[in-house]
Amino acid sequence: MEAKKLYGGLDWFKLVAAFLVVAIHTSPLESFSAEWDFLLTRVVARVAVPFFLMVTGFFILPKVLFGEKEGFRSVWKFVKKTSLLYLLATVIYIPVGIYAGHFQNISFFGVLRMIVFDGTFYHLWYLPASVLGVLLLVLLSRKLPFGAVLLISSLLYLVGLFGDSYFGLVSDLPVLSNIYEAGFQVFSYTRNGLFFTPVFLALGAWFGRCRFRLKKPVSFTGLIACLLLMAGEGFLLRQGNVPRHDSMYLLLAPTMFFLFSAVLSWKLAPAPRVRSFSTWVYIFHPLMIVLVRGAAKALNATDFLVENSLVHFLAVCFCSLFLSAVVVALSQRRARPPSKARAWVELDREALRHNVRALQAQLPGNCELMPVVKADAYGHGAVPVSKELNRMGIRAFCVASVCEGVILRKNLVRGEILILGYTHPSEFSLLRRYRLSQTVIDFDYAEKLNRFGKKVRVHVGIDTGMHRLGERCENVSSLVRIFRMKNLQIKGVFTHLCADQSTAAAEKQFTEAQALAFQNVISILQRQGFPCPKTHLLASYGAVNYPELAGDYARVGLALYGVLGSKEETAACSVSLKPVLSLKARVASVKNLYSGETAGYGLTFFAPGDMKIAAVSIGYADGFPRALSNGAGKVLIRGREAPVIGSVCMDQVLVDVTQVPEAAAGDIATIIGTDGGAAIGVCDLAEQAGTITNEIFSRLGNRLERNIVL
Ligand SMILES: *Cc1c(COP(=O)(O)O)cnc(C)c1O
Repeated sequence: MEAKKLYGGLDWFKLVAAFLVVAIHTSPLESFSAEWDFLLTRVVARVAVPFFLMVTGFFILPKVLFGEKEGFRSVWKFVKKTSLLYLLATVIYIPVGIYAGHFQNISFFGVLRMIVFDGTFYHLWYLPASVLGVLLLVLLSRKLPFGAVLLISSLLYLVGLFGDSYFGLVSDLPVLSNIYEAGFQVFSYTRNGLFFTPVFLALGAWFGRCRFRLKKPVSFTGLIACLLLMAGEGFLLRQGNVPRHDSMYLLLAPTMFFLFSAVLSWKLAPAPRVRSFSTWVYIFHPLMIVLVRGAAKALNATDFLVENSLVHFLAVCFCSLFLSAVVVALSQRRARPPSKARAWVELDREALRHNVRALQAQLPGNCELMPVVKADAYGHGAVPVSKELNRMGIRAFCVASVCEGVILRKNLVRGEILILGYTHPSEFSLLRRYRLSQTVIDFDYAEKLNRFGKKVRVHVGIDTGMHRLGERCENVSSLVRIFRMKNLQIKGVFTHLCADQSTAAAEKQFTEAQALAFQNVISILQRQGFPCPKTHLLASYGAVNYPELAGDYARVGLALYGVLGSKEETAACSVSLKPVLSLKARVASVKNLYSGETAGYGLTFFAPGDMKIAAVSIGYADGFPRALSNGAGKVLIRGREAPVIGSVCMDQVLVDVTQVPEAAAGDIATIIGTDGGAAIGVCDLAEQAGTITNEIFSRLGNRLERNIVL
């Protein structure tokens, strides 16, 4: 049950931490007691930034710091995102910085120092510091185990400490003070990405990796004890006039350990919106300080709004929260979920899962599915389908082109991806960059691949009778030479059956001969000492009709989507399959058509009597076949059939709704799927259009709204 991770506590406490940062910059208790304000803003609130860092470490770093390569992607994403945010925040604060005179007489070196260490505005130091800290840790972990990385981070923190709260202890020592002073030429504070952030990032990563958790009472007791001790530390240092700056304490690290444990024991559902709130509150609050002060002056309310530090703090919090809410709302409007606005594809997740299980049950235990998701998963949407299959444990896919493979990789689909078709030599480098396997189409093609000069993963195609792609099975010597090519990493060998849709005598004989020829080639190659890692020959019909011929993989496409090529075949199929896809569109308009009037292009239809017609927002550009014109096809509206009238247009189709008198604009028309008691299958559509289901599916247009997974 670790899958449903209840880390919402981290999200909520990040918001608390953001308000603590606001407190640091507004000193809420100053009007009442300097001591209490010191305690709140110089001691307690010092947990805020380390907490942000630990959350980053917790989610981003565990894999990389514990030696797993695949974690780099999330690190890279974090670096990119944080840098962009830094850029944006810099732009936001440039006017304020100019107004405050930050950029007067600044040298090139000063600009560099500001960008890398100090931040382009005072509070923004955190953004470059978190990136710098992350990069430093990633670099260290390339050579060192986690323990050493943590140790180095802790030592760096100690070094930083003596440039911060403990500076008084070194400022009089001859050599050390010079070293620190030299350091302060490079950065204004040691509280930066080099000395301050690595230890908290690493600590966060440790929590992300280790399952060890303190019991709730222990974390809370530890937290309170540490906070009290840290308060003592803070007051003592202040009394001794030791600090140069006051954000690094010895007790901060143990305090953070207990605080993080305590927050983790707070089991709440993840709250991504709250998470983004805290970031924006952090970014915007200095702007709001300026604004609140400006407004107070303009309204002549300085006494109340600024001089009362608590009211000032609350006003800044409120305004920051408000602006953040606006930004979050705007950004979410942009990234709204896929709509059902005009014409769309819906996928039934349960049906897909059912088909996977049914096909797995049909095949022998040692044969794995290698789903074919070419042509955008037969119009279903290759990304949502493959990701769902990944979640079901499937780790091998087939596509038709290199571009289809790249799209899957860019969307983080895991496992082997085999390109079944032709890839031009100019695109061979993509095979390596995206870890795609290429089909060896024939001997000449193998030579081209080999001449590319770098290792590529391949599956060798063998032609056993279809005579499309694959080296002819009788050319054993060519095959042997392919297996000897040193740049081909041969991951599999396969053939394709071409008469497996039937088990009638002729087809059966042909299919078995193909399988035998394939087996022979494999035996010969194996006898010559070539390994044939994975073998595969079955596609959907093969899996249904000839499961006993299965190899290591079965390249099933169509059946996975819940149908076979035609109505008869689907009805006769011995494997229980459920259709995955529905196709729907909005009714744009409903109107009367009077006897004798025409409708649509080309005078192909005249109303035989008064009738009611509807324009539905889908046309042949969306994959609704033009062959369904003039009564050949129909759609469902309000659970009843509405036949097509006139010829199908590019973007619309007209249907007869005389029998559906309540039909109205905005209704949903079902083109494939069920509505009330009625249903139209893709097989019906294929039959009416005189084609096979695969063609209907794969021609579903890319204008359709997709990614709607039920
Ligand atoms: C398309 C294709 C498949 C999948 O076929 P279905 O009949 O949809 O299962 C399998 N193998 C090859 C070589 C293909 O081109």
